[in-house]
Amino acid sequence: NETVSKPQLTIRLCGPRGFCAGVDRAIQIVVLALKGYGAPVYVRHEIVHNRYVVEGLEAKGAVFVEELDEIPEEHRKQPVVFSAHGVPKSVPADAQSRNLFYLDATCPLVSKVHKQAMRHQRLGRHVVLIGHAGHPEVIGTMGQLPEGSVSLIETIEDADRYVPADPDNLGYVTQTTLSVDDTAGVIARLRQRFPNLTAPSADSICYATTNRQEAVKQAAPGCDLFLIVGAPNSSNSKRLVEVALKAGAKQSILVQRAAEIDWDTIGSISTLGLSAGASAPEVIVNEIIEAFRQRYGATIELAEFSIENEHFLVNRELRSIELTHE
Ligand code: SF4
Repeated sequence: NETVSKPQLTIRLCGPRGFCAGVDRAIQIVVLALKGYGAPVYVRHEIVHNRYVVEGLEAKGAVFVEELDEIPEEHRKQPVVFSAHGVPKSVPADAQSRNLFYLDATCPLVSKVHKQAMRHQRLGRHVVLIGHAGHPEVIGTMGQLPEGSVSLIETIEDADRYVPADPDNLGYVTQTTLSVDDTAGVIARLRQRFPNLTAPSADSICYATTNRQEAVKQAAPGCDLFLIVGAPNSSNSKRLVEVALKAGAKQSILVQRAAEIDWDTIGSISTLGLSAGASAPEVIVNEIIEAFRQRYGATIELAEFSIENEHFLVNRELRSIELTHE
């Protein structure tokens, strides 16, 4: 009998996991734009960092580009969507000068960080941005202010080395998807060195990042393996792997699809932690559960930390286009 021969496995399924309100909104914006204006709809940068989502939208007629000059002349009337990560101010300005119709899918919580950075600057502070160099959100936040008015700090070592022109006039913001604990360490170090450092009026790390990390942290002790569904360029997903390891999971791996799982290296496990980054769709979580069910006698245990009710409205231009569930 098949069930008897399968090894037993407890799957600790974290909640909340997967899509956040900002990702959900960004995907809806592309879907509604396709519905309202027809294909092609151009999207500058991966709308969210997930291949499955990007390919799904491509199949419906979205065309992904890295820069606006890739949009062919004859399609200038079609909408172009800016990704959830936000864009430097130069991008909408460039779109305007090219007479493009753009829809900004920047997450409202990223826009809030942009506003806090601008506020620091308006009040005469030099802006310190804690984040990862090269991530599109960091490029977008730095690009809200003139070049040279934002200093990027990535690590505690950077905080130690940083030499500001005016140490008494600094204000910080952070990327929305950082590790809550590591960021607290960097801020503490900066504050030690610059006691007058001003915090933003609200935390920059968003509710979705905080909740997903907390759920993983609580579920990790005792896990033989912790799988995080997410892409290698997804900042919040990579942080979940680190959180799982720090909180006591023996092993933690980022995985994009069930087919990627290397069953030989997993070895004998009896407790599996499972969560998904904010850009990872639930169908892949299910696909992975199914793959484990084929090999193990799996029992699912919900590791629910909190219930989220956030929902962000789409752009005004799209609100009258009815969303169908195809
Ligand atoms: Fe917005 Fe946070 Fe989701 Fe990023 S992770 S899109 S900031 S809600």
